[in-house]
Amino acid sequence: MGNCSNSQKVRPCLERLMPYVAGKGFTEVSRKYGLSPAEIVKLGSNENPYGPSPKVAEALRNISPERYPEPEELMAGLAGYTGFPEEMIVIGAGMDGVMDTLTRLFLEKGDRTFIPTPTFSYYEILTILCGATPVFSPRGIEFEVPLTMPAETRMAFICSPNNPTGNVTGEEEMRTLLESTDAIVFLDEAYVEFAERSLVSLVKEYDNLVVGRTLSKAFGLAGMRLGYAVAPRWIAEQYRRAAPPFFGISCASVNAGVAALSDVPFMNNSVDMIRMERERLQKEINSYPSQANFLYLETKEPSNSFVDRFQARGIIIRDCRSFRGAGEHHVRVTVGTPSENDRFLSAYRDICR
Ligand code: PMP
Repeated sequence: MGNCSNSQKVRPCLERLMPYVAGKGFTEVSRKYGLSPAEIVKLGSNENPYGPSPKVAEALRNISPERYPEPEELMAGLAGYTGFPEEMIVIGAGMDGVMDTLTRLFLEKGDRTFIPTPTFSYYEILTILCGATPVFSPRGIEFEVPLTMPAETRMAFICSPNNPTGNVTGEEEMRTLLESTDAIVFLDEAYVEFAERSLVSLVKEYDNLVVGRTLSKAFGLAGMRLGYAVAPRWIAEQYRRAAPPFFGISCASVNAGVAALSDVPFMNNSVDMIRMERERLQKEINSYPSQANFLYLETKEPSNSFVDRFQARGIIIRDCRSFRGAGEHHVRVTVGTPSENDRFLSAYRDICR
């Protein structure tokens, strides 16, 4: 027996780690409030209530679980959807998996990353797991990204539309950032299908830009854990050297992804419905404008007690206190189906008026 306690065996950088806080699930809320899962409306995790194309169910019946997954058809589907050649596309277990491999490619102890806050917290977690140091910079009054990056930044994380604030970073701002630095700029476009436009075409011009995407949101496949990125050839090559075997994908996720990508009209239709509902909700609750499938809202009372009151009525929304820089008075509400949104709105009227 050594005299080192178990917690001392963990890498010291992990002391700074604040674990990822996910939105609450059906099971947890149903147990806490004695509600049946069918009564619960889940608007806390930015999922797509319409799910994927019906072609996905059919594709899932045809998997061969005894075989390792083969990515070729999925790569072809992603190339068709994005308009980029397969050599510029990388895949992973969710965009989370893609970012995990990318950070392991570029970050080591002592490196710094640039993270405008509030934003998705996994960037911070991955930075710390690599032994690097996140440098946070608060977003502006309209949540715009500050355009000056600290010297010697190794990676920058720009989320657009930004989770949780819903605003986008424009082309000129992105160009300014990209041209001001040697850092690898990761542009997270998880929610881009809900926005007016994508900046993915900039990858053709900048060899330090990687654009992350996912099938979890607009394509309705959050449970399948399938993400990708469009990257310059040199980064995609390095990615394939460092990625886990089979890129963390599965036979199920590949088949589901291929089927979902073969039915873009289904995805576009669900995006249209969500955008329409987004505008209806936004006007009613006077939240910040959003180009994503969620709304960011300031609350008078502390956000934790605000979300508790919704939860007690079976409506799950997201307390934003776990987002660094969001403070204690913001919540995020995912846009659901019209009837889910009606449930949310009637609770909102009860609680806020
Ligand atoms: N980026 C952002 C901004 C997100 O909100 C999410 C989902 N929570 C992800 C990336 C990760 O998505 P995926 O399900 O593809 O891992």
